[in-house]
Amino acid sequence: MSNYSAKYEIVMGLETHVRVKSNTKMFCSCQNAIELADEPNTNVCPVCMGFPGMLPTLSAGVVDLAVRASHALRSDVQEYSEFDRKSYFYPDLPMGYQITQMYHPIANGGEVRTLVEWVEKTFRIHHMHIENDAGKLVHAGGKTLCDYNRAGSPLMEIVTEPDFRSKADVLAYLEELQKLMRWCGASDADMEKGQLRCDVNISIRPHGSTTFGTRVELKNINSFSSIGRAIDVEFERQCEMVERGETFHQETRGWNDEKWFSTPLRSKEDAMDYRYFPDPDLPPLVIAREFIDERSISELPIDRRMKYKNDYKLIEDDARILSNDRTTSDFYEQLVALTWDPKKSCSYITTVLFAIFEGHTEKMWLQDIKAETAEIAEVIKMVNADELSSTNSKAVIEKLVFEWGIAREWVESLGLKQTNDTGALEAIVDAIIAENTGQVAEYKSGKEALFGFFVGQCMKKSAGQGNPKIFTEILKKKLS
Ligand SMILES: [Zn+2]
Repeated sequence: MSNYSAKYEIVMGLETHVRVKSNTKMFCSCQNAIELADEPNTNVCPVCMGFPGMLPTLSAGVVDLAVRASHALRSDVQEYSEFDRKSYFYPDLPMGYQITQMYHPIANGGEVRTLVEWVEKTFRIHHMHIENDAGKLVHAGGKTLCDYNRAGSPLMEIVTEPDFRSKADVLAYLEELQKLMRWCGASDADMEKGQLRCDVNISIRPHGSTTFGTRVELKNINSFSSIGRAIDVEFERQCEMVERGETFHQETRGWNDEKWFSTPLRSKEDAMDYRYFPDPDLPPLVIAREFIDERSISELPIDRRMKYKNDYKLIEDDARILSNDRTTSDFYEQLVALTWDPKKSCSYITTVLFAIFEGHTEKMWLQDIKAETAEIAEVIKMVNADELSSTNSKAVIEKLVFEWGIAREWVESLGLKQTNDTGALEAIVDAIIAENTGQVAEYKSGKEALFGFFVGQCMKKSAGQGNPKIFTEILKKKLS
């Protein structure tokens, strides 16, 4: 923790670029999967290379996913938005301008709710717009090469209000944002693959102050760990300047993660004039209200997490694990709906199924289970109805995971049906008591810990099929 943090408060806002997971680029039919194109400049066409006379056509897939993402951000999706040209010269930009949404973005307002060190916090979204990406410059052997495979790929830029007061706030927001983008299917938001890129606006002010200080925009931050470092270093730098009585100007700085410092890219004075104007090649984007409403999302990961913790009484860790990704969460929701047993449904996922997956040589997850979810639920119901012991249930689950089938049929064919026949179980108890006279005497003289031993012996003798509850009752009676 910095020495200055007692005196100054850090205030931050974020601008995050998230790559839309559409099949094609934003305005042409080139593939959007840039990771697949190893050879530079093989995934390009006259449209994304900005050849004269070529006309862009907006991809419907991009709009679909952007609308879903807006819903996940609880943003107000606009029925009417427009595209503008942002003109600047840079070799990675083949058209000489970027197509973006400066004046009428696709979504306004919104929020991201998350937990920061177990406390629920809300970070407000200012707006979200869609725009196309630039190519990539490769520096090699003293030369700079241009690869345009990425040029024209669709991005969502998500701009927040200045609501962040700590590194922990920023990291919690980004993790939640990543979860939301995966939840709605709009992006994999993998930071290491450049699918989620973040610029941080940072200013400081004395604690208690309500005005904002001069802000510095930090760019080029490429991983979760470097965000934390970059914030620390910039906070320290601004505090030192204020302490020395220096004034500083609004500027953009680039973060160097190898050397752990930032360098100025440009100041407000030499801010580029982008000459924004509506793109004459693209009509306004008009989205039908029906199209917008059909893509709404009722529950978000944070809603599920709070429900699991508060209503289902799961421990915090389980609530988090079961709400992290949509496959796990939807599977859990289905199990609960079928069994009415949130706790046991949780433990069958987090302990039984996860252990089976871990023990398997190939990577697998819930969607790889061969049997219907209803059959997994049936196993839980049989355990609850004392028709199957929880120990034996694992063998049945394993069959359902790898071989498909009906739960009750597996229980029959494996000979695992639990015996609740009191007469038969009593005979087993009598036999165990007769075989273990020494332990019986010890137990009766006060060594109560031996009780578990008798239950265990009875279970063993019944080949795991005796109902342990009934064994316990009979044993208590006979040993008293
Ligand atoms: Zn193209």
